[in-house]
Amino acid sequence: MKISLVSEHASPLAVLGGVDAGGQNVHVAALATALGADGHEVTVYSRRDDPELPERVPFAPNVTVVPVTAGPAAPVSKDALLPHMGEFADVLADAWIADRPDVVHGHFWMSGLATLDAARRVDIALGGHLPVAQTFHALGVVKRRHQGLADTSPAERSWLEPDVARRVDTVIATCSDEAFELKALGVPSNRIAVVPCGVDTAHFSPHGPIAPRTGRLRIMTVSRLVQRKGVGIAIEALARLVARGLDAELVIVGGAGDAAHLEVEPEVARLLRIIETTGMRDRVTLAGRLEHEDLPQMLRSADVVVCAPWYEPFGIVPLEAMACGRPVVATSVGGLIDTVVEDVTGVHVPPRDPDALADALEPLLADAERRERYGVAGRRRAVTRYAWRRVALETTRVYASLTDAAPAARLLTRER
Ligand code: UDP
Repeated sequence: MKISLVSEHASPLAVLGGVDAGGQNVHVAALATALGADGHEVTVYSRRDDPELPERVPFAPNVTVVPVTAGPAAPVSKDALLPHMGEFADVLADAWIADRPDVVHGHFWMSGLATLDAARRVDIALGGHLPVAQTFHALGVVKRRHQGLADTSPAERSWLEPDVARRVDTVIATCSDEAFELKALGVPSNRIAVVPCGVDTAHFSPHGPIAPRTGRLRIMTVSRLVQRKGVGIAIEALARLVARGLDAELVIVGGAGDAAHLEVEPEVARLLRIIETTGMRDRVTLAGRLEHEDLPQMLRSADVVVCAPWYEPFGIVPLEAMACGRPVVATSVGGLIDTVVEDVTGVHVPPRDPDALADALEPLLADAERRERYGVAGRRRAVTRYAWRRVALETTRVYASLTDAAPAARLLTRER
């Protein structure tokens, strides 16, 4: 299949360059690579943020990245990119009219906007129907619900994003929770497919070096240090466990900077206050940001990994922990509802509830055999369900359902 992926702000090249790339960059890079490895011809379109980049950049076997000139050839915050999407669509339409792909797949709502615009121009120029798949990565309606006025997305997102969701041929949601949100936005369920994010199961594996341990039971969190990730709740739960007599510690991985240069951002200051007031200073380690390279050995040193956000569009960390054979205690929100299986790979707890978290951790930390069982099941689940090869295969099945469907049937579906 000839496949075009559109990822306006998150280029796979940022992953190779070692720049601080987010989840979408990793997702698009890994999906493109896995599709290319399966023999598909993949082109990834991302906004040009560097004038030195060539016109086409070979990225992996059968995968080319095309930097699209739309707006200044310099880094621009994604919240300021909307005015450049018309220009972006012009470039896509020209490229696709010159060499029509079989399917196009937008990543993030603004890419969806440009992709739909260009695809409809291709239909007018060449006839037929160029199918459009869309992955949102995060939904503005959910972000607004949790972040309120702190959400910096452009106001237009609130009506343009649902419009994209309703107009594309298929929305590929990454978890069942997102599928419910999409239904609430008016997307018919026969146009929603659920295909999860993947994890690199060769890099994140139970085998390999283990970071040094102390004699204490080790709880670990790995995340950006923002309040909604619930790291403060994990500190409060640790204090309760210690009060109950457990000799436990908490290692907090993440933040802007390494351990020695951890910037005291507002959330770090807040966490330091919680550490002080709970008296946990000698039991909590702020490990700072770790390179992806060094994460597996850190994860392997944990007895249990805690993921306690109150809002999480997907959440890749539980998968990385599971792939390393670690049990996971996770809040029942967003993607974590699907990834962590209760009493098989870990335990679910309600969000914002340190008592419930401590109640879940206490018996698990006291039972090495149960932790081992969860870890083995977690590794198996990561490999069988979330390896990128499998994710790419499921994605191509969705593409095939769009390209194989009879045009009349497709029109009917689109008009419903
Ligand atoms: N991560 C990392 N080093 C850190 C903290 C996090 O490499 O010090 C990575 C982590 O392994 C994961 C990603 O950042 O791959 C976070 O993804 P997730 O979906 O869990 O949360 P997000 O940051 O996208 O909200």
